[in-house]
Amino acid sequence: MKKKNTEAEINNFLKGQGIPISGISAIWQLPDVPEVFSPEAILKGAKSFICYGVPIPKGYCNMLYRSLDITSNQLCIAIEEKGHLASPVYGCYPWKTVEHEFWGLLPLVYWAEQAGLGKLTKCGLLANPNYGTRILLGGVLTTLDLEPSEKLRDELCPPDCLDCIEACPVDAIEKTGKVDHNLCIRYSGANPLMAHLLADQKMKENFTFETILNTVGVDDHGSYTCNKCLKVCPLNYR
Ligand code: SF4
Ligand code: SF4
Repeated sequence: MKKKNTEAEINNFLKGQGIPISGISAIWQLPDVPEVFSPEAILKGAKSFICYGVPIPKGYCNMLYRSLDITSNQLCIAIEEKGHLASPVYGCYPWKTVEHEFWGLLPLVYWAEQAGLGKLTKCGLLANPNYGTRILLGGVLTTLDLEPSEKLRDELCPPDCLDCIEACPVDAIEKTGKVDHNLCIRYSGANPLMAHLLADQKMKENFTFETILNTVGVDDHGSYTCNKCLKVCPLNYR
């Protein structure tokens, strides 16, 4: 009963912040996560991952990450005031490079799928039954032991749909569903400031690529210039 009250409190908190979809996954649900993406590496003793998402308009917008991150911080503070530990998992930046690929802090889509927010699609995004792939995700790791939410059973991509794969201008999405993050980000994140910094040899000697990348991108996600895989997805126009 106590657990249920806590879950309801979290849900109400998120609803109050304008976040319509949320769920909980238990850390044991993804046991084979590589060490570099391990929740334990971020928060020792983490037991639950609270995942949530906000829809973006059909006309597109990529400026909501900061408000998601602020909510994540506030939720952490509320949890810690009750005597548990919590750590925000930011929706986008800062990024890291792992084996020459770009990644966020933790792969939120996998945890959000476990938490019942949606299903992974052929373009590697998470689709929600109400909003399709028009959602931005955030989350909080906590030492609170919460009841996992029910997972969605049905696939959302129609079996014969390949629209996102065919629309990608740089062929970043394979038919197997594997997405080449580097191809996507190099194309969709093309940014004049980044190009300027990378052309400067001294800059490259003095700073890591991650530092340059996160300096350019952290407070403004307006650098994304491609959203073709979102625009063509039939799930986004229901
Ligand atoms: S955002 Fe653009 S480049 Fe990236 S996968 Fe989608 S269509 Fe391809
Ligand atoms: S465009 Fe089609 S295949 Fe791609 S995510 Fe949307 S429904 Fe799935």
